Amino acid sequence: MSQIACQFPDPQAVIAAYHNLNLVGGARVPTAAGLDVLNPATGALLGRAAASGPVETDAAVQAAKAAGAAWAAIPARERGKRVAAAGRALLENFELVAQVLARETGKAIRTECRGEVKTAADILEFYGGLGSELKGETIPYSPRMLTMTTREPLGVVAAIVPWNVPLVLMMLKIAPALVAGNTVVVKASEDAPFATYLAAEIVMEHLPAGVLNVISGDGPNCGAALTAHPDVAKITFTGSEEVGEIVYKAGAERIVPVSLELGGKSPMIVCADAKLSKAVPGAISGMRFTRQGQSCTASSRIYVHESLYDAFLDALVADLNALKIGDPLDERTDIGTIINAKQAKVVSDYVAKAEATAGAKVVRCGQMPADAALSPDLFAMPTLLLDLPEDHPCLRDEIFGPVAAIQKWSDYEDVIAKANDSRYGLAASVWTEDLSTALDATSRLNAGYVQVNQNLTIQPNVSYGGFGRSGLGKEASLEAMLAHFTRSKTIVIAMD
Ligand code: NAD
Repeated sequence: MSQIACQFPDPQAVIAAYHNLNLVGGARVPTAAGLDVLNPATGALLGRAAASGPVETDAAVQAAKAAGAAWAAIPARERGKRVAAAGRALLENFELVAQVLARETGKAIRTECRGEVKTAADILEFYGGLGSELKGETIPYSPRMLTMTTREPLGVVAAIVPWNVPLVLMMLKIAPALVAGNTVVVKASEDAPFATYLAAEIVMEHLPAGVLNVISGDGPNCGAALTAHPDVAKITFTGSEEVGEIVYKAGAERIVPVSLELGGKSPMIVCADAKLSKAVPGAISGMRFTRQGQSCTASSRIYVHESLYDAFLDALVADLNALKIGDPLDERTDIGTIINAKQAKVVSDYVAKAEATAGAKVVRCGQMPADAALSPDLFAMPTLLLDLPEDHPCLRDEIFGPVAAIQKWSDYEDVIAKANDSRYGLAASVWTEDLSTALDATSRLNAGYVQVNQNLTIQPNVSYGGFGRSGLGKEASLEAMLAHFTRSKTIVIAMD
């Protein structure tokens, strides 16, 4: 049992304990200023998270730097064992972490939060087994010269995470970084910091002080201070396209490697021979409707062959109507809230644009919760946009809400061209029972993660990352650890 988790009688005690503090150098370090964190389901103040600026950020980077040499000197497999043990500890305490996550994100405890914590633990366990895969190569340069490459850690890694799946996205960064011998400073999301702190503190029980540090604060004061810090050797960022650009420029100024996991507008192509029994639930899971559509991978452009369109739409509306929108902590709830008022306005503004478009239709599904204890502001109904012109902003931009456009198609070449006509390239899926169509589409779709007859979420051992303005580099998998959290050194030894 985690001693950290044992300190807390309930989720609210976790939130109170992390009032205005950072986790730096193995200690809880109070900060002078804090940021209000609201409960999205009620609108009430949930707690206050540290508002870190350059001074607090520097302290975290210095702690990570000081811990670096000793951590890198531990055999890689032993580092991995500690990370795996941290994963098991997180799993043992998943309920407490999930309850905190549901309170701060508004995501439903049953459909979203428990699964997220379990996946986060799984990522730690997966990378924990990869310590001895940090191999180099020998190169047959000359028989009298031993020529080889070795892999070294980069140093201090800055890991910046968003609010939508904060634990999974944090673990995809810290697990490979730590196993590869780096030390880490995580910048938690200011909207959802507390579960990140709790999960990180459970992990920190298995690590030497300073190897993992967590700070919170807003982007301009905390995130920017971290990306500009001269002792940060690598930046790994998940978030919006706009901030990704700022972060990339910050890395370029100091010539440090940057990995970016940004937004998406992922197409889902339903062919004439697709099975509706797969495609309709696939659209609901692909759009992440139970997460209020707040997913970078969301299948938000659904192209359905004209022969299936009406049946697909009827079945989709019926299934969405059956989902219960309500209190994230209620076990009967399928769909919780949107994260904050700013995001809710973004979503409603896009829907208003669709409503104002001649010929377009807007179909709202489900029912708003009637519970008087809940604030209605951040609940939203799953919304389908029909018959939009292809250049409509709702088909071009990431909305990051429960809004999917359903478009009718008749010509295969045309639908492939439309699917690829996007500045993003994160994910795509094709739904068909024909192997040739599936192979053709997967080879031609311009996305980093292409699936057939399913819309899986991120898996720890499967490379994940976008093309175009969806980002740079991969997360998950051995490939991500080697490519993004190590540097390769070439050594040539004369044997004469
Ligand atoms: P965001 O870009 O607003 O914020 C992400 C993080 O960056 C936060 O911690 C924020 O404080 C920090 N930040 C803000 N300004 C910064 C700056 N100037 N310098 C450094 N850090 C700064 O994103 P969000 O609203 O938290 O999350 C939603 C976005 O994340 C969506 O666009 C979504 O597509 C994207 N996302 C991508 C993936 C992926 O794997 N591709 C996964 C989840 C979310």
